[in-house]
Amino acid sequence: MQEQVLLHYRDLTVDLKPIDNYIADGGYRTARRVFTEVAPETVVAMVKESNLRGRGGAGFPTGLKWTFLAKNTGKPIYLLCNADESEPGTFKDRAIIENDPHQLLEGMMISAHAIGCVNAYIYIRGEFVYGAEVLKRAIAEAYEKGFLGANVFGSGRELHFHVHRGAGAYICGEETGLIESLEGKRAHPRIKPPFPAVYGVFGCPTIVNNVETLACVRHIVERGPAWFKSIGPESGPGPKLYGVSGHVRNPGVFELPMGTSLREIIEVHAGGMREGRTLKAVIPGGSSVPVLRADEIDIAMDFDSVAKAGSMLGSAGIIVMDDSTDMVAALRRIAHFYHHESCGQCTPCREGTGWLEKILIALDEGRATEDDLGKLDTVAKGMLGTTICVLSDAAAMPVRSFLEKFSEEFRTAAGRRAGAAAA
Ligand code: SF4
Repeated sequence: MQEQVLLHYRDLTVDLKPIDNYIADGGYRTARRVFTEVAPETVVAMVKESNLRGRGGAGFPTGLKWTFLAKNTGKPIYLLCNADESEPGTFKDRAIIENDPHQLLEGMMISAHAIGCVNAYIYIRGEFVYGAEVLKRAIAEAYEKGFLGANVFGSGRELHFHVHRGAGAYICGEETGLIESLEGKRAHPRIKPPFPAVYGVFGCPTIVNNVETLACVRHIVERGPAWFKSIGPESGPGPKLYGVSGHVRNPGVFELPMGTSLREIIEVHAGGMREGRTLKAVIPGGSSVPVLRADEIDIAMDFDSVAKAGSMLGSAGIIVMDDSTDMVAALRRIAHFYHHESCGQCTPCREGTGWLEKILIALDEGRATEDDLGKLDTVAKGMLGTTICVLSDAAAMPVRSFLEKFSEEFRTAAGRRAGAAAA
């Protein structure tokens, strides 16, 4: 049985939410040591050395990101925890937030020390009402113990945490959209550069890290970068949370070594397919990444291996579809989501997401032709890499991969109109 680090709470009979239980289990020892004995540069060096890559979707090296912070600007530095978790099929951060909030807070404290931050925000999606309450309670407990406030762990350092609830938009998961929203504006992503590390929230240098990423920081500093690198591929190692949903017997969040095979995750940990059904397709990293066919699941679920297989690890939200799935209807549903969530700033995204959905509705309802399949691909192609943020790509990538991998099914759908006309 794989040691549970991030989901350690599952191995215990006590509830880790109350701070005293978390402390009794060894919690906050590392944060106390860091604040009283370890230089910030040492923490940054450890995180760089660990090869930790961001768990939010992009997989950017966390330590390297921290070193991009603008220095000596005279402005405060902010740490933002991205707890928006808005990618469809993704529900892993929620497991940490709702069950082991102090693990996240400890990771944030250590990260805040490393980058020289005094005020940090947790931006949590509005629908996570319970998660926000759990975090607020945990933060209040940390203040009572003197782990947050004017004199953290008696170190003389000041640190404050704030919880900010979003109003439920996909685009708030994009870091500059999140920043705009936190500033009280519409979550319109910003043109980059400047990147948040130079010009972030309130115009100040800002680091945005995901919940799982920040939780990993605690363990890297506690157990050492060598331990972290011993789990999975060296280029992007560590314990990893995989969320599996869809047509499996045992959906849920599983902590496994980075690089566990997709087949093992589906067949062993998620219990395989429902009775009498066979696997048809898998989206390996949240609904925005290219789909894989059933014969493509013998891949290691790490950043580089999934990219080599033509998809992305993304948020590791694995959506499993069995042979009962209508791929046209499934893609129509995905296209509706991205059309609804486009913020409208960029023409290819604003118009393109609408066109994709419109053509897919026509296909699904038997009102489209083979020509429309060509149009669908042309529109999707024009949406790639041309916009302020990656929502446009996120909408286009599934379309192109569904068309390529399940072309027969789409041609059959397009043929329905010709068949109806002939009849
Ligand atoms: Fe908005 Fe879409 Fe442009 Fe992103 S790509 S900024 S969501 S219009």
